[in-house]
Amino acid sequence: MSERAKLLLVDDRPENLLALEALLEPLGQELVLAASGEEALRHLLQEEFAAILLDVQMPGLDGFQTAELIKQRERTRHVPIIFLTAISKDAEHIFRGYDTGAVDYLMKPFDPQILRAKVAVFIDLWQKTVEIRRQDALISEQELAALERSSEERYRFLGDSIPQQVWTALPDGALDYVNQRVLAYFDRSFEEVIGWGWSEFVHEDDLPETIERWTTALRTGDPYEVEFRVRRASDGAYRWHLARAVAMRSDKGEIVRWFGTNTDIEERRVAEERQTFLAEAGWVLGSSLDYEQTLTDVAQLAVPRIADWCAVDIFVGARLERLALAHVDPLKIALARELQEAMLHASEAAGATAIRARQPVLVREIDDEALATFGFDERQLEIAHSLAPRSYVTVPLVARGEVFGSISLVTAESGRTYAEDDLTLAQELARHASAAIDNARLYAEAERRGRAARALEAVGDGVVLVDRDGVIRLWNTAARTITGVAEEDVLGKRIEDVVQGWLEIGPLIPVASKPGEPVRAETVPVEFGGRELWISGSGVGFEEGTVYAFRDLTEERALEEMKADFVATVSHELRTPLAAIYGSAQTIRRTDIELDPEIKDQLLGVIASESDRLGTIVNDLLVAGRLDAGQMPVTIESCDPVELAGGVIEAARTHLPEAVELELRAPRQVTNVVADPGQLRQVLVNLVDNAIKYSPEGGLVALAVANGDAAIRFSVEDRGLGIPATEHRRIFEKFYRLDPDMTRGIGGTGLGLYICRELVRRMDGKIWVESKLGEGSTFVVELPAAVEKKPPAKRKAPAKTG
Ligand code: ADP
Repeated sequence: MSERAKLLLVDDRPENLLALEALLEPLGQELVLAASGEEALRHLLQEEFAAILLDVQMPGLDGFQTAELIKQRERTRHVPIIFLTAISKDAEHIFRGYDTGAVDYLMKPFDPQILRAKVAVFIDLWQKTVEIRRQDALISEQELAALERSSEERYRFLGDSIPQQVWTALPDGALDYVNQRVLAYFDRSFEEVIGWGWSEFVHEDDLPETIERWTTALRTGDPYEVEFRVRRASDGAYRWHLARAVAMRSDKGEIVRWFGTNTDIEERRVAEERQTFLAEAGWVLGSSLDYEQTLTDVAQLAVPRIADWCAVDIFVGARLERLALAHVDPLKIALARELQEAMLHASEAAGATAIRARQPVLVREIDDEALATFGFDERQLEIAHSLAPRSYVTVPLVARGEVFGSISLVTAESGRTYAEDDLTLAQELARHASAAIDNARLYAEAERRGRAARALEAVGDGVVLVDRDGVIRLWNTAARTITGVAEEDVLGKRIEDVVQGWLEIGPLIPVASKPGEPVRAETVPVEFGGRELWISGSGVGFEEGTVYAFRDLTEERALEEMKADFVATVSHELRTPLAAIYGSAQTIRRTDIELDPEIKDQLLGVIASESDRLGTIVNDLLVAGRLDAGQMPVTIESCDPVELAGGVIEAARTHLPEAVELELRAPRQVTNVVADPGQLRQVLVNLVDNAIKYSPEGGLVALAVANGDAAIRFSVEDRGLGIPATEHRRIFEKFYRLDPDMTRGIGGTGLGLYICRELVRRMDGKIWVESKLGEGSTFVVELPAAVEKKPPAKRKAPAKTG
């Protein structure tokens, strides 16, 4: 059915409009009435008309003006206009009407038939035009649809030919298209994937972020981008993908659809992970010398980045021990421990062969056969199955040619399988780790050597290393101290050029064939710089040569000698008085002769004095013994030194040889001395006795007391034999005598001065000798002076008032 046309009737007179309306009514079209040119134009702006019936004479815009305006406007230009006029029939009017674009001219009053017939033509024309337009529109719509269809096909073709996963989603996020790749990757049908897509295949760790980003994109309309792992149906492996989507919008800016892709970036991610992992592992390994700790840290670092499991095993002797085991799930670690023993054992047996051979092991797919190599029992096998290992790599840790363990990487839940690349990575990691371990060990070794070297320098024994060619390679500080020969003067020299008579001495020194083998050190005499030393030494042979250790026994040797001398001396010292006593006693007991009472008296005198001498010797021995044992109590008090010295002189006078003159010298005022009076007395007696004894020609012996600097000084001076300067120190040593053979006939035990020195030391004093051979001697003893007492009143006053 044709559409109803609209006719615009324009006349300023209502009765004319009414008449027109009545005339055109029967055409059955829609009649729009306008009372002026202006009103007519208004209608034309809003509606489309099939024809306009326009009165010429109108106030305001007349018919011609109105028609001109209509013709000027593009949209109304072609609307047919029929002028209606009563005023003129002349040609001018008519021409003007046609000029303005009228299609017809009708004079009032109209013939209704003609009017209707003319208008009907225009109506028909309009309706045809409309029909054509409608058909045109229809055709283009169909064409468009066909076009769309073909472009969508092209899309899909494009989508399926792209190596990525391609998808589109509706504005609410529901998937409405995925390409073949998506379906193949997840092994799902189109219907299964449509809607919620692949969220069930996304790795649980990545799912929250993936959802978060997608919902944000849907809300804001901003591009969507996220990296996540999705499980591949073909092998169950999770692979990294980069998902991207952009919104397509309508003309009005509304989102019509999302266009997205998922790109497999596993290779890139893995390469990146490897790089960062290696960098971090290198950093961790270099951060400390405690390699056990750093290896444990590295195992933690490896999981889950490059492995689902990481184990580090280290050889302790011949046994492989697990140093570290890492997995993200503590439960699984507990389970894995159950298998540890069996696995280590198997590794020792089989794997270790490979480890020892320094070959890496790559097992791409762990199957039952591979599991069987571990020799698990039934329960362990069950555990192993539950841990579901996929693939593993074991690389040996090698440093300086020595294999000291291995690193194993295992995949399981990630579904990944290892390939050559992973083996390379593991080897790289093992190289880092090996270097770290090597460094740590080298450092420890250097430390140990440093300590050993320091100990060697600090040790009291001389240590000398002589290489296989007899060249000295080491000469420690003690060796230098003992021999007096510096290291730089002997290193690199042959030992026989350094040690005189080495060729004879060397073979005497016992050499063990390995450290710890017991050998008895041998004491031998050697000469260094004109000095004879008694050295006790032994050696240990090793591949580089022989190490000799020795100590200086010169002093001990001297002491031994002195002891031997002492025995001789004491025997002699005891025998002389004993012989005198025995002889006197025998003489007195004789009955065959009558003894003169005077002689008898003299003999008794000899017995008494010789017994006294015996007593002194025995006493000296006792005192020396007690001093050595630290059993000589000291009772310090303040005493008058002059009084004490006087007593000593008085006692000496009782047995003074005639040629000796005894003298006591003391200033008027002497401060008290702080000492044990009994022991001080003994010291002075010894010194005075010696002075007399070693003045065989007689002469003056003087005991002087003097105030010193916070000290009291006693000196015993004689004009006797004197003592050579080299012996000034030694005469104070135990048993030491200048003339052990008593060539001068003066006896003694060599204990007197030793006792003096020890007693003076215990009383916080000093003793020394000033002497020249043949010019007499002066022995000096210095002891602390007592502090002068202040007047008592002054000191006590504050205490009383306070
Ligand atoms: P002894 O007198 O019993 O031998 P001493 O210890 O008293 O032992 O003295 C050690 C040595 O010091 C003596 O053997 C002696 O050679 C020397 N000596 C000690 N006093 C004197 C002295 N006044 N003059 C010279 N030599 C002395």
